[in-house]
Amino acid sequence: MGVKVAKFGGSSVADALQIEKIRNIIESDGEIKYVVVSAPGKRFKDDSKVTDLLYLCKSQIDHKVPFEQVFQVICDRYNSEKMNLNVDIDLQTEFNEIENALREGTTADYIASRGEYLNARIIAAYLGYDFVDAAGMVKFSAKGKFLEKETHEAIREELAKHDKAVIPGFYGAKPDGEIKTFSRGGSDITGALVAKAVDADVYENWTDVSGFLVADPRIVDNPRPISQISYKELRELSYMGASVLHEDAIYPARTADIPINIRNTNRPQDPGTMISSEMAQLKEGQVISGIAGRRDFTVITMYKNQMSDLRGFIRKTAAIFEEHDIPIEHVPSGVDTLSVIVANEHISDIIDEVIEDLNQQLKPDTIDYQDDIALIATVGHGMSARPGTAAKLFTALAENNVNIRMIDQGSSEMNIIVGVTNSDFETALKAIYNAFEK
Ligand code: ASP
Repeated sequence: MGVKVAKFGGSSVADALQIEKIRNIIESDGEIKYVVVSAPGKRFKDDSKVTDLLYLCKSQIDHKVPFEQVFQVICDRYNSEKMNLNVDIDLQTEFNEIENALREGTTADYIASRGEYLNARIIAAYLGYDFVDAAGMVKFSAKGKFLEKETHEAIREELAKHDKAVIPGFYGAKPDGEIKTFSRGGSDITGALVAKAVDADVYENWTDVSGFLVADPRIVDNPRPISQISYKELRELSYMGASVLHEDAIYPARTADIPINIRNTNRPQDPGTMISSEMAQLKEGQVISGIAGRRDFTVITMYKNQMSDLRGFIRKTAAIFEEHDIPIEHVPSGVDTLSVIVANEHISDIIDEVIEDLNQQLKPDTIDYQDDIALIATVGHGMSARPGTAAKLFTALAENNVNIRMIDQGSSEMNIIVGVTNSDFETALKAIYNAFEK
């Protein structure tokens, strides 16, 4: 019999009703030995996620605003979950401990992590699985850097002692025990790490959609579901904003060659999206695997006469961005021009200093920047070695009056990235979708 790891996201474990569904999924499967859970998410559209409420409590106490009311809402959610599932665990002691920690000025990471911790405790008791705390297995350095190898060993060693376990997602701990979380949505990463450590046959990631769609359904009507996609293609799409799975969850599964299956807790009969090292068989006429994009990038462009004859221009430019700790997304270049594209979040506050350094150290003839650029990635192994793909994409944009600010075709020929202004983002995405999928 195989071993599966299943991660259930916030909406899949939002209340007792959802948790009953996950029990049915686990019982009818029989191979799901390790279960990673998020904190309770939204039960309906305008509901709050417990994680957001926990962060809110922390910010209230930091601003000396009463936090008790919000804290009570959180306790009530767990109490009703516990009551409706009819599990016998002492939550009050846990609540007291968290409240005391809040009053004593504990970290936001600790407070946020309690969302997953409490949920995992209740769900473990309900399923009859062992509860195994992630704090002892997911390791961070004293400075907060994630330690991959140490984590792998620790999970492997610990879970060897448990036949069936529920593990809270999202957090781990530093050597002194201080809790550290991943970025938001990080329970996906915990699930992938557990899947790798126990050498699972498959990593099931249960959420509230039946897998990835070729494009964002908020922009494109009724996009085609993706039944199979490779890690490589998905990494490109996740990086560019396709948001079903945390982008950092792909790496551990990919290095261990464990397929990730995105599934829908509310429609367990749907096969969802299977992500593996294999390239999907494309149907007749299918070229792309997906389109994704993100707004809010800055393009800095330098012009310098005879730039092409200079030595070290790109290196010096890159060094300036490195000194400011700004990750570079793309570096499109012409004969005498060089552009650098970075996400606004990394540069908005320090743009003047960066421009000043570039001016001083590189002495370009002109330098300017535009900070309202969106990038759209069109991804698919079907594009490689197929003449006409780029032409089709650019024609679609031209026909829709979208001005292209930048083009970058990855060397794998699996990815064409175009830069357009933020205001053209949706038009461009729809135009590309219609060109390839209609
Ligand atoms: N609960 C955390 C969040 O809301 C982590 C997760 O659900 O993956 O971001």
